[in-house]
Amino acid sequence: MKVPLLDLKEQYKRIKDEIIKAVMEVFDSQQFILGPKVEELEEGIAAYCRSRYAVGVSSGTDALLISLMMEDVSHGDVVITTPYTFFSTAGAIVRVGARPLFVDIDENSYNMDPVKLDATILSLDEKQKSEIKAIIPVHLYGQCADMEQILDIAEKNNLIVIEDAAQAIGAEYQFRDGAVKRAGSMGTYGCFSFFPSKNMGAFGDGGVVTTDDPEIYELLKKMRVHGSGSEYYHNIVGGNFRLDAIQAAVLLVKLKYLDDWTKKRRENAALYRRLFQEKGVKGVSLPKELERRHIYNQFVIRISNRRDELKDYLIKGGIGCAIYYPVPLHMQACFIYLGYGPDDFPVSLEAAENTLALPVYPELSHEQIEYVVDMIDKFMK
Ligand SMILES: *Cc1c(COP(=O)(O)O)cnc(C)c1O
Repeated sequence: MKVPLLDLKEQYKRIKDEIIKAVMEVFDSQQFILGPKVEELEEGIAAYCRSRYAVGVSSGTDALLISLMMEDVSHGDVVITTPYTFFSTAGAIVRVGARPLFVDIDENSYNMDPVKLDATILSLDEKQKSEIKAIIPVHLYGQCADMEQILDIAEKNNLIVIEDAAQAIGAEYQFRDGAVKRAGSMGTYGCFSFFPSKNMGAFGDGGVVTTDDPEIYELLKKMRVHGSGSEYYHNIVGGNFRLDAIQAAVLLVKLKYLDDWTKKRRENAALYRRLFQEKGVKGVSLPKELERRHIYNQFVIRISNRRDELKDYLIKGGIGCAIYYPVPLHMQACFIYLGYGPDDFPVSLEAAENTLALPVYPELSHEQIEYVVDMIDKFMK
């Protein structure tokens, strides 16, 4: 049996007619950049993410970049994030000229550990503290970071929060007072990606920034077109961060199905849990649902010591699986200058060595999931 890590063709088959019709409309209009499709998508995404506004941009990376540019983060500034994320979270910080300050993750959620965040800030002197401009928590694998604590620490230290919600569209977080918010609606900015492997993927690159602030919303729209308010007049320098109409047309079709797909991903995760338990598979830790509505962009297991062996075994058996991420960012060659040692972030390092993502995409069959669990069971025995 074959079980790919992700099979976008299965998804496409089911919505092909609708997608082609939507894309043809864009072809017929010959309006490719921004325009009514992008605006319609922005309204749909804002409503879906329960934010007031959304601004379509060219990628998730550019969503992070434009948010940092909006806040004038640049040389001499410091931005806090985790070393256990996709490269671009830290890459965006460096691209505006600032310096990433890493905080280790929590071993159960793989997200920024608020206790370590607080301790890291407390360990700095006043000058170092004054250089910090923002915190970028990442909602890794589709589960929200501990936002209540992170927002409290940010407020106490007068820092803005930019959520990296690239893997978490529609994920929910519950505050102690019972309020429930969606990923991207809690910080000043929410950054999303429509890279094809995300839960809602475009037919190319794309992204969106969400915000509740009307002034930020207006400025974001300028910033993505070179900072121009009226054409050819610039009072700020932005970039070309536009989303194109073809991607918006595709995404508008997909947005209607997103909740259904999320439900199926959650059901697949639940089926994994049930089967791992029923078969009594030993030595495998399953992902923990610590916050409300995990959307399972990835279903990541952890096994000590034999991860690479298991990965090879599964791939030989026709099962797609992958390591997100094999090298924590503090160990990347381009970040050696930051001066970190391997043991500075032990939880991230351990996760990089022992985690493995299994297929969890919506169109998987019961038999495919059962096959994955059986193969892991066989390997562990
Ligand atoms: C995918 C991803 C990004 C970048 O998104 P792109 O659209 O590929 O630029 C940023 N952060 C995280 C956590 C991601 O998973």
